[in-house]
Amino acid sequence: MPDMKVFEYAPAPESRDIARLKPTYGVFVDGQFRPGRGEPVKSINPATEEALAEIQEADASDVNDAVSAARRAYDSGWSKLAGTQRAKYLYRIARVIQERSRELAVLETLDNGKPIRESRDVDVPTAAAHFFDYAGWADKLAYAGFGPNPHPVGVAAQVIPWNFPLLMAAWKIAPALAAGNTVVLKPAETTPLTAMTLAEIIAECELPPGVVNILPGGPSVGQSLVDHPGVDKIAFTGSTAVGKQIQKSVAASGKRLSLELGGKAANIVFDDAPLDQAVEGIVNGIFFNQGHVCCAGSRLLVQESIADVFISALKDRLQTLRLGDPMDKNTDIGAINSAAQLGRIRVLADAGEAEGGQRWSPDCPLPERGFWFPPTIFTDVGPASRIAREEIFGPVLSVLTFRTPQEAVDKANNTPYGLSAGIWTDKGSRILWMANKLRAGVVWANTFNRFDPTSPFGGYTESGFGREGGRHGLEAYLDV
Ligand code: NAD
Repeated sequence: MPDMKVFEYAPAPESRDIARLKPTYGVFVDGQFRPGRGEPVKSINPATEEALAEIQEADASDVNDAVSAARRAYDSGWSKLAGTQRAKYLYRIARVIQERSRELAVLETLDNGKPIRESRDVDVPTAAAHFFDYAGWADKLAYAGFGPNPHPVGVAAQVIPWNFPLLMAAWKIAPALAAGNTVVLKPAETTPLTAMTLAEIIAECELPPGVVNILPGGPSVGQSLVDHPGVDKIAFTGSTAVGKQIQKSVAASGKRLSLELGGKAANIVFDDAPLDQAVEGIVNGIFFNQGHVCCAGSRLLVQESIADVFISALKDRLQTLRLGDPMDKNTDIGAINSAAQLGRIRVLADAGEAEGGQRWSPDCPLPERGFWFPPTIFTDVGPASRIAREEIFGPVLSVLTFRTPQEAVDKANNTPYGLSAGIWTDKGSRILWMANKLRAGVVWANTFNRFDPTSPFGGYTESGFGREGGRHGLEAYLDV
């Protein structure tokens, strides 16, 4: 962009003191905080590789304690409490999340690497919104369309990933409690800090002991939890590979299961789309949260007649993205969450080049410490190549072209996943025609990555089953 004036931004760092980091975090079981009996590990700031705190993780005996506590809490009162009373607790949690929102946002950014702008404006307010929304449902279950007297399921085991740590915890805990269940939640091993702060909030809101138990730990803790015979329902968000493993392990156990897994969404741009708006939508679709988004628009399908113009505009826009310190309020692209995830992204990007894709990134120096990957676009991507088919879960966009709406549908559906899709066009009739044909749980039109607690979210095929959010999200936690 030879003619464009580039202005320097002054640094605008958020203060990390607000996070009130503790030197150690343990487990939250039966209303008590105590060290877990597993191995202690460090939670790392992925932007600096600095250790933030020691996590005294859970082991199988902690899982046992937590499930027993959840069962006692379920039997001794929570499941029988009037909906109006459960609602009071949920409203309280929502309000305290709002009161402590700056602290939670800073903590999330330090632990996860996402830009503070996103944790402050998306993760934390949407987490509060989920508690508010489900608080409203707690006394209206009989009118939710699941029969006159729907019952809770029992003890829910909930396992979540690292990409939206607090928000995923809210998606899981709020509907479960609204419906009268008790829960044991396991956050991801690289991002336990906001979940443990949510445990503090839950204690501050005086929920009866055992209603919510939170166990930081790795895959083995997750496995002990989902395998525990005292669990009635499993809600898992994570990779398709682990989801399949869990599905096999619960077969014939009588446990209920919902799976929110990976995706490889098509974001489809027609030649009549408002192009500047579509460029913003594509950028938001794949570079929001470093592309660590299950519903990320990781495949751009652009109509052939505008492909050159559109890709050129997209590259111009990418030149203006600011990558760096996630705590700076002007940062657009933060750090990759872990060395392991960075390794996975590199392997797939290298495979993209080896398979003939043209790789492009803007000039953007990467910080020396921490885990970083520049925003990257691949053109000349073959539909059978790995980067067109496999989930990269990073800031990498694969570009394919199409000529007709039917070809766009065929290419969009040429994936084992089915979580989300985007359509950019001026024609309402085309939006409806496409939306009916796209095999995706969520279809956005002239927008992307919109999340609202009232709206159901979930996938088809290898993206999982069950819905979270809205009235539909209650069904997973009710015996209907
Ligand atoms: P992962 O499946 O490795 O881990 C997810 C969680 O499962 C973590 O808490 C982990 O400790 C736990 N876990 C791992 N092995 C387990 C086992 N055998 N039994 C029980 N628990 C186990 O996934 P990840 O790499 O942490 O997360 C990224 C993946 O999650 C991506 O594929 C992404 O698409 C998916 N995801 C989906 C959604 C959605 O709503 N559909 C949301 C976020 C992430």
